[in-house]
Amino acid sequence: MALCAARLFLSLTGLFLIKFLPAQMTLLVPDRVFDGERMHEGWKVLVREDKILEAGPVIDWHPGRMDTVNLPGITLLPGLIEGHAHILLHPYNETSWNDQVLRESLAERVLRASNHLFASLSKGFTTLRDLGTEGADYADVGIKQALGKQVISGPDLLVAGRAIVASGSYGPKGFVFKPPQGAEEADAFDLVRVVRNQIGQGADLIKIYADYRWGPFGQAMPSFSQEEIRTIVETAKSSGRVVVAHATTKEGMRRAVLGGVSTIEHGDEGDLEIFRLMKEHRVSYCPTLAAGEAILQYAGWKKDTDPLPDKILKKRQSFREALSAGVHILFGGDVGVFPHGDNARELILMGEYGMDPEAVLRSATSGNADALGLKNRGRIQHGLLADLVGIRGNPIENLQDIYHVDFVLKNGKRVVKSH
Ligand SMILES: [Zn+2]
Repeated sequence: MALCAARLFLSLTGLFLIKFLPAQMTLLVPDRVFDGERMHEGWKVLVREDKILEAGPVIDWHPGRMDTVNLPGITLLPGLIEGHAHILLHPYNETSWNDQVLRESLAERVLRASNHLFASLSKGFTTLRDLGTEGADYADVGIKQALGKQVISGPDLLVAGRAIVASGSYGPKGFVFKPPQGAEEADAFDLVRVVRNQIGQGADLIKIYADYRWGPFGQAMPSFSQEEIRTIVETAKSSGRVVVAHATTKEGMRRAVLGGVSTIEHGDEGDLEIFRLMKEHRVSYCPTLAAGEAILQYAGWKKDTDPLPDKILKKRQSFREALSAGVHILFGGDVGVFPHGDNARELILMGEYGMDPEAVLRSATSGNADALGLKNRGRIQHGLLADLVGIRGNPIENLQDIYHVDFVLKNGKRVVKSH
């Protein structure tokens, strides 16, 4: 009996020790740390399990086992947040958008998406806002669930589901029959039902197309009225969700801003006036510079040798006006139009079009976290997720260094090739 009691005591002590022994910590000692706001030489970062415990020039003593990892030549950044992705699309110079929507099976598209996710994660993009499945129903919701169960590894996702377009405005077009569309059509009062249904299907946010190329000459023209956009926004807002708008025309942007959306995507015709209006209404601007350049390159433009096309000159001017208006700029390249994993292409272009490198990094980390309402990431500070990227070099001195990824930590665990 006494022996039994002693055994019980020992085993209870064992349980106690296992439960209350502080978890192992890792002290990362890179050359410098970009904390989501600015660069700090000589900072260290302490990680325990999936969280950042502390960051700074001196780390307080914490009880427990601590491994020190020296990282000479490395800049440590928060995991990068891609603001505009389509994991269910791949570059249009491989397969046209029409053929992806109409000829690729859902199975093929989902398998491709799995590869796309890992490609982005391994390049340091630990969170993605995905803005529409483009004909792949709610596959994004299912993929997000699979990621949650660790069936595959990839960035955390915010998903839009099918997205909403005004009837007749979107595509695919030009067939003798009406083929399946790349987004869900809805108008007027039916918008309330469609928004609620998309939310019920698992959309984290609602994506709308405030304009599209449906003018008499194929030019972009507004689609939804301002009242319709207001209806969509009010319906989504009641469930705690935001609405984001594709808009390239000035009038489409204006209706979206006054209708109450939270971000505007593309905004090619944006000027000082409209960007000031966006700032006033606290609407963020996601310029998708990389998608614009990629589409021109697929049409034959050679960036290194050819003169800048009119479209690029205008986009550069518009981006400069966005900067001078002080509108919040959201990093998001529309990746999927160009290869997944090359998300950093947008960061390079933001620099090339006139944004300060430190502001570029801020946009892809704390800026996107704030704009997308993600309070648990985007900065290197106590209590936030240990989503971290080690970059060889210093991306503030040379933005291209952002491509030199040495390692990625997702939830405190090193990302390794999974398949
Ligand atoms: Zn897009």
